Amino acid sequence: MGELLRVAAPVGSCVAAVAAVVVTVLVWRRSRLNARLEIVRGLHSELISASASKDRHILGSLHWQNREINPDGAERGEVMRAYFAMLWRFEQLHAGRNVLLKEVDGRRDVALKMLDEQVYTHVAEYVCTFPVIKEKLTESNRADTVFDGAYVKTFRRLRASLADSFEDPEKKARLGAHTNNTEKCGCKCHEVSAKPPLPPQRPYGAQV
Ligand SMILES: [Zn+2]
Ligand SMILES: [Zn+2]
Repeated sequence: MGELLRVAAPVGSCVAAVAAVVVTVLVWRRSRLNARLEIVRGLHSELISASASKDRHILGSLHWQNREINPDGAERGEVMRAYFAMLWRFEQLHAGRNVLLKEVDGRRDVALKMLDEQVYTHVAEYVCTFPVIKEKLTESNRADTVFDGAYVKTFRRLRASLADSFEDPEKKARLGAHTNNTEKCGCKCHEVSAKPPLPPQRPYGAQV
């Protein structure tokens, strides 16, 4: 009996130690996943915040109505601000998503799958929105160049990385390069006839 106890005691403490390590690893994994999901929530909330909704409305209205921008009013400045604000939001999304990817060596864990599903529609919509709006900004004032090179490049990288994450060929295609053609682009805006700009906006109470 004494012999049995002498053997069982170290085995028992060994099992307890292994169990403690397993519990520690599980707790660590869970807290890491919670931290990653928190980052995902933050990245997604930036795309649906009140200020993002306002910018999306400004750009979306022009995009879907295929309306030109009035060069004389305040509209062009507002569109330019919203255009860059959306590019910067996607830049932030790309940086945050890269951190999440590197942390798990490029695997798509639960957090990344959740993020990619949440942002897919937003990114896919802007594959057409950005070039269409840029063209309208350029057409409305050719003297005022839109310097967006670095941000557009980052958006392209985001699209490519997101396309790699999906198996669905339709999703991959929608995240591909933009073509100014409804059939290839998939965006109905190319079927809408062009509309003239709205009258210039004047400050409230200004003399007409
Ligand atoms: Zn398009
Ligand atoms: Zn479009």
